[in-house]
Amino acid sequence: MSAPEPSADCLFCKIVAGEIPAEIVHATETVVAFRDVNPQAPTHVLIVPRSHYANAAEVAHWEPTTMSELVGAAAAVADKEAFGDSYRLVFNTGPGAGQTVFHAHLHLLGGRPLTWPPG
Ligand code: 5GP
Ligand code: ZN
Repeated sequence: MSAPEPSADCLFCKIVAGEIPAEIVHATETVVAFRDVNPQAPTHVLIVPRSHYANAAEVAHWEPTTMSELVGAAAAVADKEAFGDSYRLVFNTGPGAGQTVFHAHLHLLGGRPLTWPPG
């Protein structure tokens, strides 16, 4: 596991830097939340650390407080969008689990009934 390095070619680093537009719904010193461009639910928001890490485990290892802030920001957005107590948080990790962007991101899905198990 390697220490974080900013990645020039990273889509989410560019969104965090404001170089690529996104609909930002929440931001703090350490995390940024923006709407997914291809939403899978009425609310589909991605919450990302400002620092570049490939996946959730790297965030937890190098910046454990940021991991907590990712979840806290997701809860704040869920609260603002009035889901009540039901929503889903997902970290896809690795290509076999559907991860396509290798800058850690927490999916917040809500606003419709969510079945279990997921695909
Ligand atoms: P993953 O498949 O890695 O778990 O999630 C990546 C997510 O990023 C996908 O849900 C995809 O729709 C979203 N995404 C990909 N490109 C962009 C983009 O340019 N802007 C935004 N807002 N979301 C994106
Ligand atoms: Zn990045």
